[in-house]
Amino acid sequence: MKKVYIMYGADPERLVTTILKKIDLIGELQSLGNPSIVIKPNLVVPQPAEWGATTSPEMVTALIVFLKKAGFNKISIIESSWVGDNTKEAFKVCGYEKISQIYDVPLIDLKDDSYRELEVEKEKIKVCTKALEADYLINMPVLKAHCQTRLTCALKNLKGCIPDQEKRRFHTMGLHRPIALLNKALKSHLTIVDGLYGDLTHEEGGNPVAMNRVIAGRDPVLIDAYAAGLLGYELQDIPYILLAEKLGVGKSKVSSKDIIEINSSQEAPLVDLRQGGEELDYLRRFVVEDQACSACYGNLMHALMRLKEKGLLEKYPAPIYVGQGYKGKRLTGFGVGACTRGFTINVAGCPPQANHILEQLVSSIKEEKHG
Ligand code: SF4
Repeated sequence: MKKVYIMYGADPERLVTTILKKIDLIGELQSLGNPSIVIKPNLVVPQPAEWGATTSPEMVTALIVFLKKAGFNKISIIESSWVGDNTKEAFKVCGYEKISQIYDVPLIDLKDDSYRELEVEKEKIKVCTKALEADYLINMPVLKAHCQTRLTCALKNLKGCIPDQEKRRFHTMGLHRPIALLNKALKSHLTIVDGLYGDLTHEEGGNPVAMNRVIAGRDPVLIDAYAAGLLGYELQDIPYILLAEKLGVGKSKVSSKDIIEINSSQEAPLVDLRQGGEELDYLRRFVVEDQACSACYGNLMHALMRLKEKGLLEKYPAPIYVGQGYKGKRLTGFGVGACTRGFTINVAGCPPQANHILEQLVSSIKEEKHG
């Protein structure tokens, strides 16, 4: 059964290496002989990963070192930035040119590539040749929000494997169905999600929030279903997840048996309140924290962002408490996570997911209104 693996922390090398050992990537690759391995990061725009839009070069480096140590050398990195941006510039700004030089891994700008037209559900989909030719495709998306599809993670990241003209056509088709069809046409064998920093609102970054985790698994639908909850969404908010499931790409029902947390969220650093961004600064006004883990705080920020998008944030009358400093305290108020279980209102979990925090906030607002 395919699972979702999560590891908390801020050291990309340790996170990637540990998670890859846990899922036995080397064993799987050895069973394939000497496969060509293609890595697909998210370099939608030329911006450093800390801005919340692009895949951490340290994570990609850790993956390459791990593969090379095990004797796998047929590795390349593919990407096509969004329409209007230059992939080569993104390779340079995001630190991938250096990776290519140091580890002798070619960078392939798919804007220069040819494509094949594949038929899925009677719809023709153009997919870049180099992506289709991979024996083993490793998808490395960023865990972040998207202004149109709400979430962009595993399934949507493959949109960087199609020609620009096809990207434009996907937008005219409303994105959801073509994203599902694309994932049927092009299989990603493994997804390793950069959940270190992800943007709260937009795919192009600018409001990054530290989530300090890496998520990995072999079912991109399951990964996206799990990721949706982390950003405060329900499955029905993101139609392409359910459409991909219908096409047999994976399963969307996430049960506790599917989730393997390798370590405790407390191993991630405490929240760094110097980390900025207009939205983050605004959301923080509603929170009182005391030694909050960054994983917990990051989930809370996504929940508050979704509450704001619903027009309800300003309706919440009291501060929201989070952090290890509240352990064992019995207080009146809204507490997030196991540490605040002594509060009159508490969202359980360590850390609780954003959709669970959001649900409890919305129901508290309703009770307040009717009380
Ligand atoms: S519940 Fe407490 S220990 Fe758990 S992630 Fe939140 S702040 Fe950290």
